[in-house]
Amino acid sequence: MKYISTRSKDNPINSAEAILKGIADDGGLFVPEKIPTVSSKDLEEMLKMSYEKRAAKILGKFLTDYTADELSEYAELAYNWFDAKSRIPMAVLVRNNDNRAPYGILELWHGPTSAFKDVALQMLPRLMTGALKKTGEQKEILILVATSGDTGKAALAGFADVPQTKVMVFYPDGGVSKIQRLQMVTQTGNNVNVTAVRGNFDDAQTGVKKIFADEKIRDELDKAGVKLSSANSINWGRLVPQIVYYFSAYLEFVKTGKMKLGEFINVSVPTGNFGNILAAYYAKKMGLPIRKLICASNINHVLTDFFNTGIYDRNREFHKTITPSMDILISSNLERLIFHESGGDFKQVKRFMTDLNEKGKYKIDAKLKKNFDKIFFADYADEAETKDIIGKLYQSFKYPIDTHTAVAMSVALKYRNKTKDGAPMVVASTASPYKFTGAVLEALGQSVEGADDLKQLDLLNKFTGKPIPKNLDRLADAKILHEDVCEKDEMPERVIAFAKK
Ligand SMILES: *Cc1c(COP(=O)(O)O)cnc(C)c1O
Repeated sequence: MKYISTRSKDNPINSAEAILKGIADDGGLFVPEKIPTVSSKDLEEMLKMSYEKRAAKILGKFLTDYTADELSEYAELAYNWFDAKSRIPMAVLVRNNDNRAPYGILELWHGPTSAFKDVALQMLPRLMTGALKKTGEQKEILILVATSGDTGKAALAGFADVPQTKVMVFYPDGGVSKIQRLQMVTQTGNNVNVTAVRGNFDDAQTGVKKIFADEKIRDELDKAGVKLSSANSINWGRLVPQIVYYFSAYLEFVKTGKMKLGEFINVSVPTGNFGNILAAYYAKKMGLPIRKLICASNINHVLTDFFNTGIYDRNREFHKTITPSMDILISSNLERLIFHESGGDFKQVKRFMTDLNEKGKYKIDAKLKKNFDKIFFADYADEAETKDIIGKLYQSFKYPIDTHTAVAMSVALKYRNKTKDGAPMVVASTASPYKFTGAVLEALGQSVEGADDLKQLDLLNKFTGKPIPKNLDRLADAKILHEDVCEKDEMPERVIAFAKK
């Protein structure tokens, strides 16, 4: 299986090279030349497998330059310590005496940072070290991350102590929650650095982008035996591990007798950068029986408008919401979808991306829109609807969900009401409710007055009786290991100093 860019007719490369490069030289994203398929026999075989085995099997279809043994080993290392026996369990919600098809809340947050990014960021470092070996790369890889909170910690947890790699995270000083900061500054490992930047998230991100684009810095790092790379969600190595859990969710519905092999499900995903839902799209294209992909947004609903009108327009007011991981106006991974559904029309992709860059908008033609209409349903939930569904679900099932999951749940209900399509529904649950305690407690009618982030963990625990994830519970006593702060202009020298360490 070879990988090509979405923006030009470059030479196809292996997956190991695509994972190391992250982004194509022409600025496009790497996509598989052909999407592999699964047979019903494959699905039947996978029914009996553990999550790790399922992961190795699906990864093997895309990453054909890795051996089956390598992928099995990586999957073990990545997932064997998720704090649920089945790694990614699905809570199936059905009312008594209700024979309508169930909702399956796919808990993607049992990893080391309690958010779904762990599923990919526990795998990516293994894929990268494998890729270093395969390509004969001798240099050390330095993963550079600017974070508004969650990605930074997930990257640190994934890359900590991984040989031949270093990871450095910049976060806005005072711009992340207390818990998010504690998660990062208490990170152990000999190859990690966490630095606060005086400025906001944009300053940190711009700083990182400048470093990536600066040839002089690259040269200096090169001489020190270090190569920069990125762990953000456009890396193919982050996308492919996410395809696995849609298979797993489907198989769980079959295993628990909720439906038969071959029947259709729907999938609802709280969407930001379009990575998670794109993984579901690949699962569907591979032959997993998914009827509709439900693209759920918050009030920054660029994607809802895009799927409903065919116009992508980022020129609009930006709202800060209780679902911060979805506060995004440019969904990078959409580029891959457009490439595939336009039959690989890289010239068109390039035109759209240039328009997006220069005018902040682009319009797709009727044919492409028709293709999307067949696959997607898009809608959004506002802040009140998001809180409302958290309360209602708790009332009915004593099951607390986080705000992002609530957006997906709310839009899933809208879909069912509008279409009467009653197929079993998988709702991607992207964070533990303990990650967004303030909004969750409020939605459950609990006062958070005078309680800081850490105290709120206890409040939610007292109210729901659900255990606090260990990684969060430990934070109050964990040792602070990273206290570096820098001005945004100092970021390059900090990177160089850490690279030479
Ligand atoms: C990153 C994230 C999302 C958005 O996922 P994308 O792949 O960027 O669409 C949703 N919810 C949570 C909790 C996240 O961390």
